[in-house]
Amino acid sequence: MDIYETSSPEDTVALGRRLAGQTRQGECISLIGDLGAGKTAFVRGLAEGMGADVQLVSSPTYVLVQEYPLDEMSLYHLDLYRMVHAAEELSDLGLEEMLQNGVAVIEWADRAADALPVPRTEISIEITGEQSRRFTVNNIN
Ligand code: ADP
Ligand code: MG
Repeated sequence: MDIYETSSPEDTVALGRRLAGQTRQGECISLIGDLGAGKTAFVRGLAEGMGADVQLVSSPTYVLVQEYPLDEMSLYHLDLYRMVHAAEELSDLGLEEMLQNGVAVIEWADRAADALPVPRTEISIEITGEQSRRFTVNNIN
């Protein structure tokens, strides 16, 4: 288990950029945290660190999945916030195929609970102050 603290949105983007270096093809990253925790900010850094065009990164709330093409694979950005049947929809959306083609990062992953793939990297974000956030990273095997 790794714990990181950030003290600004920019700090959170930088953390995502840093952790991008440890990300491998086939990896699923589940993000858990309230509205405004910094999930999308973290994904922006992750995408940037992986070499994606960061202009594209926002909460994919209406499109369900946003694909950011990289050199040799893709980063898939999912947001389950508005999904009523998130667990079923994860497989309908083709999560398995996404993981064959690259990396998937899922906002509001707790909405799909048992349907999330194992192994995965789970990151829980706590709002610890107006500008401060605590990131707890767990490898779920
Ligand atoms: P989420 O996707 O979890 O709903 P966002 O990344 O969209 O969250 O938004 C996070 C909000 O919290 C932004 O308004 C941002 O300015 C604010 N914020 C304040 N401190 C931080 C921090 N340390 N990390 C990330 N966001 C922060
Ligand atoms: Mg978001």
